[in-house]
Amino acid sequence: MTIKCTNKVALIGTGFVGSSYAFALLNQGIAHELVMIDLNKEKADGDARDLKHGLAFASPMKIYAGDYSDCKDSDIVVITAGANQQPGETRLDLVEKNIKIFKNIVGSVMDSGFNGIFLVATNPVDILTYATWKFSGLPKERVIGSGTILDTARLRYLVGEHFDIDTRNIHAYIMGEHGDTEFPVWSHTTIGASQLNELIEMEQENVQKDLNDIFINVRDAAYHIIERKGATYYGIAMGLARITKAIFNNENSILTVSALLEGENQEQDIYIGVPAIINRGGVRKVVELPLNEKEKTQFTHSAETLKNVMKNSLEA
Ligand code: NAD
Repeated sequence: MTIKCTNKVALIGTGFVGSSYAFALLNQGIAHELVMIDLNKEKADGDARDLKHGLAFASPMKIYAGDYSDCKDSDIVVITAGANQQPGETRLDLVEKNIKIFKNIVGSVMDSGFNGIFLVATNPVDILTYATWKFSGLPKERVIGSGTILDTARLRYLVGEHFDIDTRNIHAYIMGEHGDTEFPVWSHTTIGASQLNELIEMEQENVQKDLNDIFINVRDAAYHIIERKGATYYGIAMGLARITKAIFNNENSILTVSALLEGENQEQDIYIGVPAIINRGGVRKVVELPLNEKEKTQFTHSAETLKNVMKNSLEA
């Protein structure tokens, strides 16, 4: 019996997000082997060549451009292929174009004999992760979307900046759609061991207003970046690398990803951003946070929005 001792990633889509993710994997020494696949084969090949020139400054990693047959023995297939948001477009506007692309991509990956974990970042990520789960037939644990990992990182950064505390000491979650109906779970936000709610009571009254402004900045961050530079990619690339690392290292880390709900927070048959425990098997468990009344309403609204779009696009 051959023992497989390498962690292999197949990356589909080597555009802004995909190539930044590949760069993050290389810099952080997260995988042993990376195959890069794109409709634009020249781009994938160019990226692979460019990245390999950094190997002298990183850990050993086999990097090459390939095709779908290379997915067969991959542990994780990461999908960042598809159309991205243009200025003024919402993530949900991308659904029809990207569902069609996904039908082909997921079919080709499964035809290779792939039996690992899918990690999806293409937008609208919650709907495309659901589609990947349906098209692949893999167990729900092994189909994960990047969900609100980036939005949560943005929130932690801005709250940390506001209170002048290291981002890594801010424990906070954005839940719901990775999109306009997402919301902050202030009731479960802590700075170090202190509950944010208690801090608000101790501080001046305008903290609540500042927090609302912080959330609006998080929710609209992609629009602000797209207006300025046309696309967002470094943050999501690092978020994808973080999920990849949690899988390969069997970390049991709690990350906000898009996971399938089967009754958690009163929702089912939907992929949506929630905190979940991630390990070598994928999603070990969705962490069900007891939400307050306002947050419950926000979560239901977000789930309904996704369901409506999903119903129309998957049945089309
Ligand atoms: P991009 O246009 O730079 O790259 C997309 C790549 O996909 C291109 O290289 C293209 O050739 C390739 N592609 C298209 N169709 C393909 C197919 N059928 N098979 C293989 N490759 C194909 O776009 P980008 O900026 O890298 O964004 C990619 C996706 O990531 C978009 O949907 C974007 O909205 C999304 N995104 C998600 C998040 C998140 O938080 N989840 C953040 C930023 C961007």
